[in-house]
Amino acid sequence: MRKKVIAGNWKMNKVGSEAVQFVQQTAEQVKPSEQVDAIVCAPFPYLAQLVEKAKGTTIKISAQNMHYEENGAFTGEVSPVMLADIGVSHVVIGHSERREYYGETDETVNKKVHAAFAHQLTPIVCVGETLEQREAGETKSHVQQQVEKGLAGLSHDQVSKTIIAYEPIWAIGTGKTASSEDANEVCAHIRKVVADSFSSETAEQVIIQYGGSVKPDNVDELLAQSDIDGALVGGASLEPASFLKLVEAGAK
Ligand code: PGA
Repeated sequence: MRKKVIAGNWKMNKVGSEAVQFVQQTAEQVKPSEQVDAIVCAPFPYLAQLVEKAKGTTIKISAQNMHYEENGAFTGEVSPVMLADIGVSHVVIGHSERREYYGETDETVNKKVHAAFAHQLTPIVCVGETLEQREAGETKSHVQQQVEKGLAGLSHDQVSKTIIAYEPIWAIGTGKTASSEDANEVCAHIRKVVADSFSSETAEQVIIQYGGSVKPDNVDELLAQSDIDGALVGGASLEPASFLKLVEAGAK
């Protein structure tokens, strides 16, 4: 049985005091569980503080992005070495907002995924189609290409430890969720792509999350699907009560 992984992606929200309070409050209530991992993806300035707060608790702390180089003349960037140095465990890579607003491509995603593993960071690799692509019937081929290119060159062991987040772009922050059957169909396709590119054992182990307007109201149905192993959640992860409900759903 694969574990469920619930990750709250705060995006560019919260200041330090709010972030610390959130982690403190949720850490007290998320009990150790074989069934679910709870991850908070926080803005860079607070990561070190949150890692300290989360020490010895069930909450894991993730960055929302990073550069693929270890150091150098990249003004304003944060490297995998720095994230590893402060004890961050996960990093979101290739979120659609990064792809859309900051020119990230499958090639940069692939470099970042390799860099994450080189520094013992677990990548949460985001893929997903636009509304136009869905309407043109290109969802599976587009997502397949993102997965194949994003994970190219990884070992089977690395892929089995990767978290893939399937996030249809039209469902992010819009209140529109893919139906659980549609979401599952694409997640199952992603698993098949992993099986074909690596091995069926690897595909059985890889965690595939759904993301896009997940909330306490719809999370049960999504997590009940055969190939959905968790959720990457934006808006509904900002309040501790709502985040806790999502984590509870993962532990059921
Ligand atoms: P949303 O965001 O839950 O607010 O739709 C999901 C995401 O972008 O990861």
